[in-house]
Amino acid sequence: MGYDQPRDVLFRAKRGFAMPSKRDFKNQSKLSIFISYYRPYWKLFCLDMLCALAICGVNLLFPYISDIAMKTMLPNGEYQVFFLVMGLMFLAYIFKSVMHFVVTYWGHTMGVNMEADIRRDLFEHLQTLSFSFFDKNRTGQLMSRLTGDLHEIGELAHHGPEDLFISFISLIGAFFLMLTIRWELALAVFAVVPVFLVFTIFQRKRMINASISVKAKLAVINGEAESSLSGVRTAQAFANEAEEDRKFNNSNDHFRWARQEHHKAMAIYQSGMELCVGVMSVIVIAMGGWLIMEGRMDYTVLVTFSLYITTFVTPIRKLSAFVEQFMQGMAGFSRFVELMALEPEIQDSPNAVEAVDVAGAIDLENVTFSYGPDQPKVLENIDLHIFAGETLAVVGPSGGGKTTLCQLIPRFYDVDQGSIKLDGRDVRDLTLASLRRNVGIVQQDVFLFPGTIYDNIAYGKPDCTEAEVIEAARRAELYDDVMAMPNGFQTYVGERGVMLSGGQKQRVSIARVFLKDPPVLILDEATSALGTVTEQHIQSAFDALAQGRTTLIIAHRLSTVRSAPRIAVIEGSRISELGSWEELTAREGAFARLCQAQGLV
Ligand code: ADP
Ligand code: MG
Repeated sequence: MGYDQPRDVLFRAKRGFAMPSKRDFKNQSKLSIFISYYRPYWKLFCLDMLCALAICGVNLLFPYISDIAMKTMLPNGEYQVFFLVMGLMFLAYIFKSVMHFVVTYWGHTMGVNMEADIRRDLFEHLQTLSFSFFDKNRTGQLMSRLTGDLHEIGELAHHGPEDLFISFISLIGAFFLMLTIRWELALAVFAVVPVFLVFTIFQRKRMINASISVKAKLAVINGEAESSLSGVRTAQAFANEAEEDRKFNNSNDHFRWARQEHHKAMAIYQSGMELCVGVMSVIVIAMGGWLIMEGRMDYTVLVTFSLYITTFVTPIRKLSAFVEQFMQGMAGFSRFVELMALEPEIQDSPNAVEAVDVAGAIDLENVTFSYGPDQPKVLENIDLHIFAGETLAVVGPSGGGKTTLCQLIPRFYDVDQGSIKLDGRDVRDLTLASLRRNVGIVQQDVFLFPGTIYDNIAYGKPDCTEAEVIEAARRAELYDDVMAMPNGFQTYVGERGVMLSGGQKQRVSIARVFLKDPPVLILDEATSALGTVTEQHIQSAFDALAQGRTTLIIAHRLSTVRSAPRIAVIEGSRISELGSWEELTAREGAFARLCQAQGLV
């Protein structure tokens, strides 16, 4: 056990139990979704509420007892009884502080557990969303939703019901006890409560808007910080730190203003509430004083009443704190529900089948695609047939749609028209997981996860053995490099692999694909970023990798596709030429022009 876990997991929900209900984020109300997260922790919740109730009881008891003491025990000289009762009160307060501990500790535990469940659901959901979603949303903003927003939801989950519950019980309890003592005074004090409620309702909209805006601005800050910090090397290379500062300060200012607005709303609300509280005290003293002057009331009643004012005011303060917390928590929760309601654009069709024993024939039939309804068509009426085990090169000018074409095969995006078939079956009829298991991609910019070289290679096949990883590294011509490193396979690669050279990163990603061993292989400008010398070294690794697989090679440098039996040229969103090197160069068309531009003929 590497992590410090709290020992008392008494009420921790069992794994399977924590996700019993299928939630419908689109149609269910936010509140009922929120409540559904309590379900696994209902025992904790009941415990929390019981303890809260006990705390209330003790709070209400004290003024009542002191009233009796002043009215009967003290005047009648019952000192023994008096001290006995005081002793009991002392015990009651000890009891209350134990209850307080339970509420604070176990209550928070419940909140934290619920927050963790919500976060788990959100993360799992984000993982299912399609490329198009991540094209449009910034990582930093999403992270902000995963952490900051959810923290407030957890706090609300715990404090919300408890505050609400304690407040109502205390208010009602105090009101009835006050009624029994002096009903005129009680009614006068209680008259302020509706005023307070109306005021709250009027302020509600303003506060919730302020909260939502604060959250949105914070997410922008996080997005800004994430991109600036991950691009810090570029910023420094261009000596553009000042520009980055400017961008960041801009969003920082917006955040500040949003916070100011938020605090203004809060300030108005809280001062209004304080006014209500003050008015109550004045009413009691003024009216009580008048009753005393009239000789219709005793001094002791005023003292008791003043004590009750405290019992009365505390829940009102709590209620207002609740309102604040509710606004913030719900602002975060709305954003959570909004994200959860997003359907992945690409998902398994209801009758999708597993792709098994894939030979690797790929057919593009009349494929048309654009990145959005109002975007230009990147591919138009593409027809392309790749035989199982064949190596096909795709070339063309930059921005011609080669990468796009590759991304359509494993369904990172779906075609607008036409179809793509794997072994004669439409890729949309295959399960995503099985389709993607059968397609390996090596790209120009390799993404490595922070961790060791070993972990990054093993990513290609999570249940692989050490021997397989070593074998993959050998075949990717990476083994000698790794062995030359002081920590071997346990070498830390740094964030996104910054501690490795471009060629090494590339070979890690080749080793990954060796492990994955897919029948279809896509090399998307995999060698473009490397120098010619390194490239030759890696070329043999690629040749080994392509052995026995359907391989699509996209290359910017035409010399690298010379050996490909067939070459397709994509230009102006269509395939303009298709044939062998000799055929294409002889034709003196688009391909010949590309060759000329690269000084190859
Ligand atoms: P190539 O790989 O041939 O250089 P791409 O397939 O990457 O070209 O891009 C083709 C076109 O699609 C370009 O005009 C590019 O701007 C556009 N494009 C690429 N990716 C996206 C995306 N995620 N969203 C919107 N447009 C995109
Ligand atoms: Mg590309």
